[in-house]
Amino acid sequence: MDPTALTTSQIHEMLKSRQASAVEIAKSHFARIEAMDKQVRACLSLTPERALAQAKRVDAAIAAGDTLSPLAGVPLAVKDVIMTRGARTTCGSRILENFVAPYDATAVQRLERAGAVIVAKTNCDEFAMGSSTENSGYFPTHNPCDLERVPGGSSGGSAAAVSAKFVTVALGTDTGGSIRQPAAFCDVVGMMGTYGRVSRYGLVAFASSLDHIGPFGRTVCDVALVLQTIAGADPLDSTCAVLPVEDYVGGLTGDVRGIRVGVPTEYLRGLNPEIGANIQKGIDRFKGLGCDIMPITLPHTDYAIACYYVIATAEASSNLARYDGVRYGYRSSQYDNLTDMYRKSRDHGFGAEVKRRIMLGTYVLSSGYYDAYYLKAQKVRTLITRDFVEAFDDVDVIVTPTSPIPPFKLGEKVDDPLQMYLADIYTVTASLAGIPGISVPCGKTPSAPHLPVGMQILAKHFDEARLLRVADAFEKAGGFHIT
Ligand code: GLN
Repeated sequence: MDPTALTTSQIHEMLKSRQASAVEIAKSHFARIEAMDKQVRACLSLTPERALAQAKRVDAAIAAGDTLSPLAGVPLAVKDVIMTRGARTTCGSRILENFVAPYDATAVQRLERAGAVIVAKTNCDEFAMGSSTENSGYFPTHNPCDLERVPGGSSGGSAAAVSAKFVTVALGTDTGGSIRQPAAFCDVVGMMGTYGRVSRYGLVAFASSLDHIGPFGRTVCDVALVLQTIAGADPLDSTCAVLPVEDYVGGLTGDVRGIRVGVPTEYLRGLNPEIGANIQKGIDRFKGLGCDIMPITLPHTDYAIACYYVIATAEASSNLARYDGVRYGYRSSQYDNLTDMYRKSRDHGFGAEVKRRIMLGTYVLSSGYYDAYYLKAQKVRTLITRDFVEAFDDVDVIVTPTSPIPPFKLGEKVDDPLQMYLADIYTVTASLAGIPGISVPCGKTPSAPHLPVGMQILAKHFDEARLLRVADAFEKAGGFHIT
């Protein structure tokens, strides 16, 4: 059996029954990357030494008869905005081209402790700013489902790596949709927990009040397993919630009878018919599972894009001030004085989208405009959060399309940033409210070229267990279960 096609539990069985060793499993994934990443370009760097050392540890544990953790020997890719000790961590930016992380992010540390094998660092939009992975300072990633198309973004490399079976699971980050949207584009599962569910320690900050680390997998069950491994309090991140983590995998009972599924009327207005047809079928599938479908309203949705792009850019302008050519990263070699050094280092090191956002963010925070933009956006954020809190008085989960459009061609939207921003409409609302969300495959568009469609499912704060149970039942009922 080809180990690259397996789920985490199948790898576990294979190791336990000694059909394959962890080293063999790791090597078969590297072989697949070697053969296919020239086309997909999901990886920025590979970590074979670390992977093989970890795989050998797993094999030694098996030989010693130790109890095997469910993630032991499972190949993992990590988005390049997440710190991995001793490996290059570029954030997809030229400004950090030679930056080697001095420590591991908490999520990485927890996964490695559970036996996962880190295989690669994946490509992304520069500092996670974008929706197509075309803003990478290195090269764009291609969608394994259709190589002429984008994989989504900003965690496009992680989504593509899971979709192309370079790894079983991956870590991405989601600030306004960067896990959910690429999951939808690459036909895999991707999840963002509640803000505070997973430690951000070791995540290079884009917009701190919105940033999350979260998992990708080819099944909901694999995503649940990674999430329950990385979730939970961390003394190194004071925004990480001190709440117990449930056994998400154990909760995947398949029983969702009586679950109240809310469908926001605002989200289906004017929807692309190709996406709409699948979403309608998805809603019918929930009915078939015994759920109650209920229309709901989220009245402040129209303001979400503007609100997100004010808050996210404001926080980015502050977070990215640290790349000054002094402390780390790229420094221009020719300059007249200190100010000139700062200016040239930032000018050469950052790409166009990052500069656009730093300028936007600086503007909305500047005296005289702060109240009109930043403060106003914060108030709107509260209203959007309230929309969800009120909706969850009546329903258990909310379903929406993940993206209003199917995966588009490389180059098609790069020159139109506004159009790219507007396509984040279904994902940014949950980010602003801090609630958890998952994207699960929901078939292919009815017309050729039959592109993947994702269904987004949202739940109330810290209701990940129920969210995963609903997503798992939906996945199994659809017959999309890949393996
Ligand atoms: N596409 C959104 C943006 O460009 C979301 C990015 C993200 O979640 N990191 O900001």
